[in-house]
Amino acid sequence: MSTTIAKKIQMVDLKGQYQKIKTEVDAAIQEVINSAAFINGPAVKEFQVDLEKYLHVKNVIPCANGTDALQIAMMALGLKPSDEVITASFTYVATAEVIGLLGLTPVLVDVHPDTFCINVAAIEKAITPKTKAIVAVHLYGQCADMEPILALAKKHNLFVIEDVAQAIGAEYTFANGAKHKAGTMGNVGCTSFFPSKNLGCYGDGGAMYTNDDELAKKLKMISHHGQSIQYVHDIVGVNSRLDTIQAAILKIKLQHLDEYATARNKAAAHYDKAFANNPKIKTPVRAKNSTHVFHQYTLQLVGVDRNKIKEQLAVKDIPSMIYYPIPVHKQKAYQSERNLSANLVVTEQLTPCVLSLPMHTELDEATLNYISSSLLELINA
Ligand SMILES: *Cc1c(COP(=O)(O)O)cnc(C)c1O
Repeated sequence: MSTTIAKKIQMVDLKGQYQKIKTEVDAAIQEVINSAAFINGPAVKEFQVDLEKYLHVKNVIPCANGTDALQIAMMALGLKPSDEVITASFTYVATAEVIGLLGLTPVLVDVHPDTFCINVAAIEKAITPKTKAIVAVHLYGQCADMEPILALAKKHNLFVIEDVAQAIGAEYTFANGAKHKAGTMGNVGCTSFFPSKNLGCYGDGGAMYTNDDELAKKLKMISHHGQSIQYVHDIVGVNSRLDTIQAAILKIKLQHLDEYATARNKAAAHYDKAFANNPKIKTPVRAKNSTHVFHQYTLQLVGVDRNKIKEQLAVKDIPSMIYYPIPVHKQKAYQSERNLSANLVVTEQLTPCVLSLPMHTELDEATLNYISSSLLELINA
């Protein structure tokens, strides 16, 4: 390959994205500094209202990060030590971490081999009289199969928490044709505005969404030291806020979110086409009832040494990532008799073969061509 790429290839190009909205963003940050309203300034409420409109959800409650969002959600739902919470082992650790932190029991189940999202039949098998909630993770940018998950939850009287950290803006279609945004279908949706997420701020940030007004009050109270009236603490809470500067940035970036998703889908379509019909590369399968916002573009490499390919790509200045190299049930902190390998066959098959390619809003054709032709060369060598 003699193609030269003008810019260093990155997994996520946050600088390139910033350059296009720099004037607006700089002015918004300066305005917050001028006002000195760093905590709970007007931009926090404005962004909250904008996000409620975008998601068609009654309540958005901003907080400090996605992990806090999950923790506050579980506190607000009244989950108690020894309650069991079912989630996928094939996820970022935060999902299981807050379950453990609150003294609840994480029950880790398998994912679907095509969509990488939690397997509904596996959830059903894991339900016991102690089960109180399901955390559905919308992994890599498309929705878990929410309709049967919600039906199962209803049947067994379980709460459903959606981990939307990777899928803000994705849309799920029910059998009756109704469309709902990720995070607005269960009891509560939890998202992250970590810089590299699809709607990322310039630091940490997160939010919870719910259509349940009573639950919204509780989420708000807990995120604010358990108080609804200043200095009156009816319940134990935490301190978890979205900074005004971050909200001001998010307010601008939310206006671009759909265009960002389009750019990601365009890059994904390029990769799909380039790798089609290669027996050693399995491209991401689209879930039949969800749109995809491509937080990650994750391949499965079959019959090749994934780690070696990753190293060879790096030599060609092409970054790639493994999400996630060790599933949660294999982590020391989360090993338990409930979470045995025998129940997590797909997760253990995926772990050694997944590879995520550069995916962001600033990928041009030349860069995509260089990445895909380089990978094909290595795979077919
Ligand atoms: C990023 C992420 C989180 C945590 O978000 P933070 O803002 O980093 O705390 C939780 N779950 C998943 C699936 C994530 O990708």
